[in-house]
Amino acid sequence: TIDGAQGEGGGQILRTALALSICLDKAFRMINIRAKRRRPGLQYQHLAAVRAAAEVSRAEVNGATKDSQLLEFRPRRVVAGDYRFDIGTAGSTSLVLQTVLPALMLAPSPSTIVLQGGTHNPLAPPFEFVQYAFLPLINLMGAQVEGRLLRRGFAPAGGGCIQASIQPVKCLQRLELMQRGEIVRCSAEAILANLPTHIAERELAVIARMLRLQPKDLNFTIDTDAIGPGNLIAITIDSVNITECFTEFGQKGVPAERVASMAVRASQRYLASGVPVGGYLADQLLVFMALAGGGNFVTMKPSLHTLTNIAVIETLMSIRIDQKQISEHGWQLTLVS
Ligand code: ATP
Repeated sequence: TIDGAQGEGGGQILRTALALSICLDKAFRMINIRAKRRRPGLQYQHLAAVRAAAEVSRAEVNGATKDSQLLEFRPRRVVAGDYRFDIGTAGSTSLVLQTVLPALMLAPSPSTIVLQGGTHNPLAPPFEFVQYAFLPLINLMGAQVEGRLLRRGFAPAGGGCIQASIQPVKCLQRLELMQRGEIVRCSAEAILANLPTHIAERELAVIARMLRLQPKDLNFTIDTDAIGPGNLIAITIDSVNITECFTEFGQKGVPAERVASMAVRASQRYLASGVPVGGYLADQLLVFMALAGGGNFVTMKPSLHTLTNIAVIETLMSIRIDQKQISEHGWQLTLVS
């Protein structure tokens, strides 16, 4: 039994439990689902993750109804194949992908998965983050996962679509990310859908000034196919050992200059910390590291998401993930089996 009220008390507890349950063939019951959220219980986004995990593992499920705070999930066996899931709202496609990805990466044959919903949601990994930062690290672990953005769907409109093609691997290789290495390139992209172009121009001007970027490192994308309105800033930092990506969404009533400077400040905190793995990547890598049975990485002070994720993983697996502060801004997370 896993308590969904622990730590962060949000949706990630559920997704981590689903991801590990189907990989390890371990049934679980979750109580108090999303107890610390304003609207607790399963919302459409979480129901989509349950549905996807259930379909991929042919699971028996009880309690998968809207607002339910109790779920029983019994996987049978993971079946690779071609899957398509429609979240039905603007809920994040990246988060549903991350729920089933570990199991499909370890399945006996290749899979493709198409997900419809939001591709650009605040408080979730935007597709650019998945593409530039998350997938390259996952691919270092041996599987080959190729992500494609078929159509951007900005929340709250949704209507986006992503596809992932997955070439599985027998066992995941350990992840070792102790050092960032030299910074090779810093670049920024401003993406606009159905909004005036001056927004992106103002954002890129602020970023260029604050991060001293040259015009060749600034990209301006007007997406005429996207469902939205929407605006995203993505600042990508390529180092020898890792690529990180810091994003910020344009918001109604918030000046473009402020949106840009928030993204810049997140990237500056990362640059100043000297660590390889940023805060969001840290919590998203843990399930994969646990399944690899070993690994080490250095990140910033662990967030509550990261600490909660560690607790859920340690409940479902007989492993420990140790945290040790190793520098002013650096924490080493190590899997101890
Ligand atoms: P809720 O808690 O309401 O259920 P949720 O289902 O979206 O919300 P959370 O538990 O808040 O789930 O988890 C959000 C996930 O999105 C975390 O893994 C976090 O690392 C990731 N995330 C949030 N913002 C970003 C961002 N800007 N870039 C990359 N990843 C992000």
